[in-house]
Formats: sequence, structure tokens, C-alpha cells
Amino acid sequence: MDQYSTETKCVQAGYTPKNGEPRQIPIVQSTTFKYDTSADMGKLFDLEAAGYFYTRLQNPTNDYVAAKIAALEGGTAGMLTSSGQAASFFSLFNICETGSHIVASSSIYGGTFNLIAVTMKKMGIDATFISQDCSEEELNAAFQDNTRAVFGETIANPALTVLDIEKFARAAHAHGVPLIVDNTFPTPVNCRPIEWGADIVTHSTTKYMDGHGTAVGGAIVDSGRFNWMEHKEKYPGLTEPDESYHGIVYAEKFGQEGAFITKATSQLMRDLGSIQSPQHAFYLNLGLESLHVRMQRHVENGQAVAEFLASHPKVKKVSYPGLPGDPYHALAEKYLPRGGCGVVSFEIEGGRSAAEEFMKKLRLCAIETHVADARSCCLNPATSTHRQMTDEQLSAAGIPAGLIRISCGLEAKEDLIKDLDQAL
Ligand SMILES: *Cc1c(COP(=O)(O)O)cnc(C)c1O
Repeated sequence: MDQYSTETKCVQAGYTPKNGEPRQIPIVQSTTFKYDTSADMGKLFDLEAAGYFYTRLQNPTNDYVAAKIAALEGGTAGMLTSSGQAASFFSLFNICETGSHIVASSSIYGGTFNLIAVTMKKMGIDATFISQDCSEEELNAAFQDNTRAVFGETIANPALTVLDIEKFARAAHAHGVPLIVDNTFPTPVNCRPIEWGADIVTHSTTKYMDGHGTAVGGAIVDSGRFNWMEHKEKYPGLTEPDESYHGIVYAEKFGQEGAFITKATSQLMRDLGSIQSPQHAFYLNLGLESLHVRMQRHVENGQAVAEFLASHPKVKKVSYPGLPGDPYHALAEKYLPRGGCGVVSFEIEGGRSAAEEFMKKLRLCAIETHVADARSCCLNPATSTHRQMTDEQLSAAGIPAGLIRISCGLEAKEDLIKDLDQAL
């Protein structure tokens, strides 16, 4: 499939039926798999042979869909997880342990921030958060001897900042550490972070990849480019014998291309069990089949809505990297030449009460804690996700009380704009 374009991979990568087999990906709705002899099954437990024995670790439906996402991102291996949160956690915990340190962009999804700053901290894994707009000098200064990973988001949810992937990759590699990029918002249709130097890519497939508000899920893709053996002392989990599998060394047995995902599957999935159900993987694949068509429309609608809002007298400020005046426009032109996504945020004149009143009047755009769906939706952090904060606390956090995030769906842009206009 490598020779084909992204569009063709969205439709066909990952699964090629043989003569007489189902044209659509079969849903292997089975927790377990049958073997003729214990010896046959034993080989799977020893990682001597590839195959399936229990769906908590691997399932053919999931593997077809993970292979499609890996092909789209230009990686060598991929896996599905039960959620985007599980994907972020596995991508980090696969190479971090108590005593490790992470360098992360401060402009990331709130759930990922909590995961790193609160939950992983309790596991003895520290982090330094740094503005993605920092200088190379400041970025390099954030590293410590125990730094094991760098984490950022291509387009941050909800801040809509654009990550300078090359800058982060340069710093990570200068310190012998991989760069992990959450590519949920642009999807591989609009950006492939591996081409810019990222080593691992993660996704909340719940968003555009699914695209229909149907199934929560996540994915991890490995570029196969990071040389674990060259940094042997930092990554003992990949470069030293795993006693739980009779002493195999992942980086030797599965090579640079397969070590990361094999370890995350056979160790983390085995022990932590955050597998995506095969049924969800099937829904996800239906979304992937039209991802390239939908992303184009989400971007078109996002751009039109951002331009409309930017020209409206009741709107104080619009954030959308596709707008020429946006602080991230230059980075968007470099990393997102086909556009970014359909999410736009803006600040309405009149603060919290004006935002509440405006959202009540919307007819097409529903109030939801969600983004990246075929149906347009919106959220005012001050009256929902951040309602415990005062107006002063909100503006200190860079979330003014009148801030509204709109996720532009696949409706006609004229209808969306008419709806916003009457509500304003
Ligand atoms: C939603 C989201 C996540 C978390 O994904 P879930 O599927 O909700 O667990 C992670 N990163 C980004 C950028 C997201 O938008």
C-alpha cells in the first residue's frame, strides 16, 4: 500500500481479503482462539510465533484497523487502545518508569495534562511543561539526565496552538529521546508528524477518525526510526531481557520497527488491559474509509466559520490557525498545508452571560463535551468544564469567561453561519 496516496489508504489499507474472503473487515467477536496442541499455543505465549490467543492482547479486527492507521501515518507498526487516554498513557509508560522524567508541551489536552501532571507523578514519573513557543535554548534546558520522552500535540485541544514538530524533534533527538506527538486534531490526512521527525504518534480515534460520535478509542503508531539499542541504558524495558517472556529482548527480537508496539501489546496490554473492542474497531474503520473526504469538509467549514466570526462586531477574538492573522498561521502553512481541522474558538463580547445566551439560541450547533463529529457542537468552558473557576481565575488560565469552542461538523457552511449569525 506504500505506493498509494492517503486517500486510497483511508479506503483500502490494512486489510486485503484473499480469494472468497469477506470484502469488508470481519468482526472477530471472540474472546479466545482455538489450538490443536498446547505446544502450538505455547509458542504464542513465548512470543516465538505470531498469532492470537486472547482478545485482551490482540484481535484480528483490531489489527486490520491498526495496520490501516499505521499505513496512514507512515509508521511500521500500530495498535488500538480502548481510548485516547489509554493511548497517551501506553505511549509514555512503555518507555518511562519510576524515576523517569517527561518534557511536555504545556499546550495539550486537559486529560493528557492530568495524566502526566497528576497520575503519572504519583507513579514517580516527573514532568516539565514548556510553552511550544519557547526558544530552542529554553527547550534544551528543560531536559534532565532522566528524561525519557518528549510529548506534544500537533494542534492542541482546545488551545488550537500548532506545534513546531521539527523544533521538538531536534531537541528530543539531541538528548537521545523519542518525540511522541498526539495527532488527533489534524489526523494523518492533514499532517503526518513522522515525516517531520516524530518517533511515535498517538490518537484519540474518538474524534475525527471515528467522526460520527459513535465509539471511544485510541491508537498508537511507531515510526520504527528510534534506535533503542543506541540508547540502551535509558530504555532497559526494550533493550534488556524481559523475564516475563523467558528473557527475550524486544529491540533484538522484533527490531527497531517492531519492538515498541510488541512490548506495549505483550506487556502493557497484557497487564493493564485497555483493548478496544473488535466491534468498536469495525466502527472506527467505517469512519476511516471516509476520513479524507470528511476532513476536507471540516476544514472548509472551519475556515468559513472562522472568517465569519472574525468579521462580526460582537466577537472579540477568534483563534483558528487557518486565519492569516492567527499567531500560528505560519506554522500551519508549514505543517498543515491542506488545513488543520474544523475546531474554532472565539471570545464573545459580554463574557459568561453573553456566551450562555448565545449558545441557548443556537439551533444547529448543540451544546456538547465533544469535538470532531459530523454534527456541529459547541462548549463554553466557563459554564461547563471549568465552571468551578471565577472569571479572574479563568482569564489567568488563558480561558476568558466568554470563550466558546465550536466544532464545525459536515453541515452546509451557509446554514452554520446563518445559525451563528441569528444567535449572535
Ligand atoms: C479527546 C482527546 C484525547 C483523549 O481521548 P479519549 O478518546 O477521550 O480518551 C487525547 N488527546 C486529544 C487531542 C483529544 O482531543
